[in-house]
Amino acid sequence: MRMLGRLGAHLHWLLACLVLALAAAGAHAQVTAVRVWPGPDSTRVTFEAPREVPWRLFLVRDPDRVVLELDGVDIGPALAKLGSTVGADDPLIRQARVGRFKPNVVRVVFDVKAEVAPQAFALRPIGEFGHRIVLDLFPANARDPVATFLERQRVAGSPEAAAAGAGSPPSPAPAAPAAPAAAPGSTAALPGAAGVPPAAAGAGTAAPGTDAATTPPRAAAGGPPGAFVSQGPDPSARNTRLPPGTRPLVIAIDPGHGGEDPGAIGPTGLREKDVVLAIGRRLARLIDAQPGMRAHLVRDGDYFVPLQMRVVKARALKADLFVSIHADAWMQPTARGSSVYALSLSGATSAAARWLASRENEADLIGGVNLNVSDPILKQTLLDLSQTATINDSLRLGRSVLSELGRINRLHRKQVEQAGFAVLKAPDIPSILVETAFISNPDEEQRLADETQQERIAQSILDGIRRYVAQTPGITRPR
Ligand SMILES: [Zn+2]
Repeated sequence: MRMLGRLGAHLHWLLACLVLALAAAGAHAQVTAVRVWPGPDSTRVTFEAPREVPWRLFLVRDPDRVVLELDGVDIGPALAKLGSTVGADDPLIRQARVGRFKPNVVRVVFDVKAEVAPQAFALRPIGEFGHRIVLDLFPANARDPVATFLERQRVAGSPEAAAAGAGSPPSPAPAAPAAPAAAPGSTAALPGAAGVPPAAAGAGTAAPGTDAATTPPRAAAGGPPGAFVSQGPDPSARNTRLPPGTRPLVIAIDPGHGGEDPGAIGPTGLREKDVVLAIGRRLARLIDAQPGMRAHLVRDGDYFVPLQMRVVKARALKADLFVSIHADAWMQPTARGSSVYALSLSGATSAAARWLASRENEADLIGGVNLNVSDPILKQTLLDLSQTATINDSLRLGRSVLSELGRINRLHRKQVEQAGFAVLKAPDIPSILVETAFISNPDEEQRLADETQQERIAQSILDGIRRYVAQTPGITRPR
């Protein structure tokens, strides 16, 4: 009996050890994916894990390094190959290193090409995604993103740029000089990190001239900061066929999704974000070839733009029209056809329209918006103006585009439907959202991938815009 009792105690002890060992082994989460999205305003790096990972962000000076500490994770394959995930042409990151700093702490260190102001935030699981930590690296002396966007548009719209090809992506940041030889001890050992008080995470105050070796920041845009609303691009720069005193019709083209947010994905893997960017660029080229018209792409690369920021950019451009381009998806692969949507302020016109709007509005949750940062630009620009007149114009524009799309594709909805699409909320710009076709339908996925069909879709949207313009006297009156 006593023997048995002692054996039982031993077994208990052994069992406890085993449980502890297993817990220790299983305590560490795997970072299952790391993605890097260089964009025009920032470089975004996303870390995804099956469970919430505690993290800390800080900045180390001389030379500038951004350090993200992750608690309780293993350095698995995704983290291990982060270094090679960063492109040599990344505007801000020179290289990334990953190392174990303490038994429970992994440090991810970014050596940067210029002074940066980092921000990080967590995203809850949504759709296919698990828990994500999103790290945004902004240039330390970045002007507001709308001002830099306008500046790039103006450069792209200059006669020289027009000659080089309309609709081409904005010129990249000037190439950084070759990286200096590896910093002393530049492994995961983090020289200088110990004892350095972390700069306020996300605040990243610029210390001018602290590091002569760093690359100068990207070409500074001209004009006073904050005055972006009145310093829109000179729309007449490219167009010489207009009578004096008139300005071209400015059309903001918004390819949906981008970056972390792929949008809908077709049966063979075609991603909505890619195909709508291709169609958007084609539409921009067609518009720019029209006398008296000028196109601006609200997104012109594989990065995410928050929905509100798309509206803000269109308003800053003083756009006359706003066209958001998407591809639809539905559970049944037989669903097909094109449809066009406008904003509704008083409920959706159908359950399907409401469902679609809520799905498209999820883009911010998937693409990632830092809700901790209050953005004065967004606050001041979205006014609560009466949108009734604008919505009537949006419906007319939508009907015109829909009937042109009906010439090249079956229509999914014969009328322009309405719902609360966040991206259509510019109070003073007639705005439509075009669901070009169903990417979830195998036939239509194939057609969406086809360049000839992409061009036909772009051409019909243009034809619809032209018809609306012809029926809208005074739309191009001088301002
Ligand atoms: Zn979409």
